[in-house]
Amino acid sequence: TSKVNILGVRFQRGTMEQIVSRAMEFMEGQKTGTIYTPNPEIVMEAYGNPEVMAALNRGDLVIPDGIGVVLASRIIGEPLPERVAGFDTVQMLFAKMAEQGRTAYFLGAAPGVAKEAACRMEEKYPGLKVLGAEDGYFKEEESPARIERINACRPDLLLVGLGAPRQELWIDRHKSRLEVKLCAGVGGSFDVMAG
Ligand code: UDP
Repeated sequence: TSKVNILGVRFQRGTMEQIVSRAMEFMEGQKTGTIYTPNPEIVMEAYGNPEVMAALNRGDLVIPDGIGVVLASRIIGEPLPERVAGFDTVQMLFAKMAEQGRTAYFLGAAPGVAKEAACRMEEKYPGLKVLGAEDGYFKEEESPARIERINACRPDLLLVGLGAPRQELWIDRHKSRLEVKLCAGVGGSFDVMAG
């Protein structure tokens, strides 16, 4: 099987390169793909929270962000090939997207941060277009308005950085309404991208 079960969370087996190739395939398809990058803390959270567990396991590409998950896979005799950190995976994805003139939308972090991250990433990956960027401090009632703005842009990739597990639950709840090719939970990545 291509999945490795760590305390109930089913991780995708594959190198970063292979994961990014799979992610790019979603950009050709019709169904909205999802990427989650749980670290050991989130695996423990999911272990005690069925709602989080179910959301993670409905993800298309669940990748091991943290050497702890890789070590656990070795202990149970079903080794995952390598740590596939969410941040690095997104950087590799941006590079591929830039070659094809693909588009993204950033949702998350404190006001101003996602916009700054967007400018930096467009500079770093010429060809990549970030169609919109907004903060992640909003109430659930505001989600429909947020989704409307995202859908108006129809980005190829939506990055959601609301912290785990809020971002995974948000993506899982709304993915059927999101008109995007691929949606990824990215934790605090916008803060890092913004420098
Ligand atoms: N965040 C947000 N909305 C919230 C709570 C947090 O957008 O309601 C953002 C926060 O500003 C930060 C990210 O979510 O950019 C969470 O980062 P953290 O490093 O705490 O999470 P992790 O990477 O561990 O999931």
